[in-house]
Amino acid sequence: MAQEIFPNLFREQIPLPQNPLKAINSYVIKGDGRFLMIDTGMNRPECMKAMEAYIKEIGVDLDRTDFFITHLHADHLGLVSELARPSSKIYFNHPDSEVINDAHHWEEMADIARLNGFPESDILTAISRHPGKRYHASRPLPLTLLREADKIEIGDYSFICIETPGHTRGHLCLYEPAKKLLFSGDHILESITPNISLWSEGDDPLKSYLQSLDKMSKYDVAHVLPGHRELFTHHRRRIEELKKHHEIRNEEVLSILKRGKQTAYKVASLMTWDIDCDRWEEFPLPQQWFAGGEALAHLQYLQGTGRAKRELQNGKALFSLKE
Ligand SMILES: [Zn+2]
Repeated sequence: MAQEIFPNLFREQIPLPQNPLKAINSYVIKGDGRFLMIDTGMNRPECMKAMEAYIKEIGVDLDRTDFFITHLHADHLGLVSELARPSSKIYFNHPDSEVINDAHHWEEMADIARLNGFPESDILTAISRHPGKRYHASRPLPLTLLREADKIEIGDYSFICIETPGHTRGHLCLYEPAKKLLFSGDHILESITPNISLWSEGDDPLKSYLQSLDKMSKYDVAHVLPGHRELFTHHRRRIEELKKHHEIRNEEVLSILKRGKQTAYKVASLMTWDIDCDRWEEFPLPQQWFAGGEALAHLQYLQGTGRAKRELQNGKALFSLKE
């Protein structure tokens, strides 16, 4: 059942089967003869079925619908290829569009996995099972690329874009200053922590993420409309919790590095994860993959702040404490 959470602003939870995120929030705003949909779902039949019921229930005409996609992940972007019509605009961001158009993206990911100690036998399987590969847009999309402070008007709502890199390089939030509404995508979630992963040489996504959290705390926000789970109100408190979470994770990674130099994969296997598995070996491969990316993001951040160092040995990156 779709909910009208504010006048002419609807929300439906599109299910994500066998995915720990459970569902994605897809929002629709009705304006003067036009609709704006914010995030869509994965390109898979279960999402499409829920989406068809949603748009029928609230009376969306796809021929008069534009889309705002917060970031490149398949659960937000994937289904748009099936929903957008030739007259639709698809609002998106520059950095993530470069990743989508990078023909070597998955190869680069495999190289980074190899460098960081992922078992060779797992790498190709993990990539082939990656939701970003299985459930993505089925065709190249004509994108309207937006930047910081760009505006989108729809009905009584007048939004500005806020660049919030971290969860992805180009993540965009949408803010309504008069109504103090924030579509936060996967930048700020309430009961779960957004995944911050490193899969590209030279990036420091955790550093970007923490800066984007500080940036967001300066905005006056009454209601956060996130990409997953429930709406919430106390965005500054949540930002402090997320910052604290990453501080604790950094401390955990440092204490693991006390055992000696090791790969990011090894570090990931020794970190604590909120998952129903007792042992690292039992983690489903995609979960090991996300954990490895997250460990790597922390290691990169610790390296950037001078607390860890990296050396290359026999084609592997080994991390250790910096004395
Ligand atoms: Zn995401």
